[in-house]
Amino acid sequence: MDLKHIEDETCFVCGAQIESETRKHKHTNGLWNEYREFTCGKVLHYVPNFKTVVIDKECPNTAGELKKRQRREKAKEKLLDYVEALKVDKGYKQEIYRSLRFV
Ligand SMILES: [Zn+2]
Repeated sequence: MDLKHIEDETCFVCGAQIESETRKHKHTNGLWNEYREFTCGKVLHYVPNFKTVVIDKECPNTAGELKKRQRREKAKEKLLDYVEALKVDKGYKQEIYRSLRFV
């Protein structure tokens, strides 16, 4: 697709290539919203209302995203340890574990 406003051909964080491109929801000013997704998951979005490119979804390889994932994993480990130490029946613990599976 020939996007007119997003110039990055690769993810500038990790060098990932283009996965997909779309153009949708034409603004009243006649310009389209443009989206470019890279294979790492990063999504750039041209917003016609502000005539600028923003990051809709950050590259998972930035220092900030890596740190956020590490903190979440540590938090989840602490939660699992806490649940394991609870003095409740095994079935209830399994219900809690099932609800934590998606976080
Ligand atoms: Zn990336």
